[in-house]
Amino acid sequence: MGVYAVTGSASGMGRAVAEKLIAQGHRVIGVDIQEADIVADLSTPAGRRAAIDGVLAAADNRLDGAVLAAGLGPVPDPTRLPVIAAVNYLGVVELLDGWRPALAATGSARAVAFGSNSSTTVPVVQGRTVRAFLAGDTERAVRSVRLFGKQAAPFVYAASKIAVSHWVRRHAVRPEWAGTGIRLNVIAPGAILTPLLERQLASPAEAKAVKAFPVPTGGYGKPDHIADWVCMMLSPSAEFLCGSVIFVDGGTDAYFRAEDWPRAVPLRRVVGYLRRFRGFAATREPVETPAGGE
Ligand code: NAD
Repeated sequence: MGVYAVTGSASGMGRAVAEKLIAQGHRVIGVDIQEADIVADLSTPAGRRAAIDGVLAAADNRLDGAVLAAGLGPVPDPTRLPVIAAVNYLGVVELLDGWRPALAATGSARAVAFGSNSSTTVPVVQGRTVRAFLAGDTERAVRSVRLFGKQAAPFVYAASKIAVSHWVRRHAVRPEWAGTGIRLNVIAPGAILTPLLERQLASPAEAKAVKAFPVPTGGYGKPDHIADWVCMMLSPSAEFLCGSVIFVDGGTDAYFRAEDWPRAVPLRRVVGYLRRFRGFAATREPVETPAGGE
């Protein structure tokens, strides 16, 4: 059976994933700020280094999979924004980077990062905030939302999840990821009843914000159901799943974005594309896929 690293293993969806993997007979190396095999604070560079090195040592540099579920919700406390930004973005991408050689070593590894449907349903997330995340500058990302004042938390949170999704889609298709057999994808849950959501629902202002997002199926999702999806994304069935963002959110993303994605374009863009495409097609070499392609 396989060896899997799971961050956020002490609670909620990370814990549900770890329990399912263990029930399937796999070995799980849990990483969390509390109650874990490797106790590490992913908001600090030292904590992230300890998590990377601790897992590599425990797994003998060979991982069958990794699940990056540690994260913090949009707590409306401006002093917490740098911590939310660091855990939700650097706590995912730095660990993926650090564990990549160990994932490549097994030849068919799977990795799943936790995004969120906030990445598409929170309005007016700024491009410069996402760009700051992708540059690894979480402090600049936090500074960029100053204009929202005390309401900034949802925008930092959503931007961190957009940035994780972009990072995954950029990297998943590269030779060092797809070409070494790793399948890297994002799960984007909606409102799931975990301790994170329970804390939000306990505060009247945050509960109002949560309830402003319609859930067409009704109710909230269950951590166990998300864990089933993640286990599917870790299984051999995910062989052809690469750089995808899988929304499991009771329909909230579809409710807000039914016409926005997949996207059609206005006529002037079609004309511009045809002009460019003619020249491009004439000189175009076949694109080599990382795995050699078929
Ligand atoms: P949770 O609070 O139940 O679990 C999160 C875990 O992350 C906890 O065990 C916590 O100790 C750990 N963690 C927090 N800060 C840490 C740090 N500095 N270092 C190491 N570990 C730390 O939350 P959850 O709802 O299971 O969330 C899991 C993931 O799903 C998160 O990334 C969250 O953003 C995302 N998500 C949650 C929801 C939801 O509605 N619950 C929706 C969309 C996305």
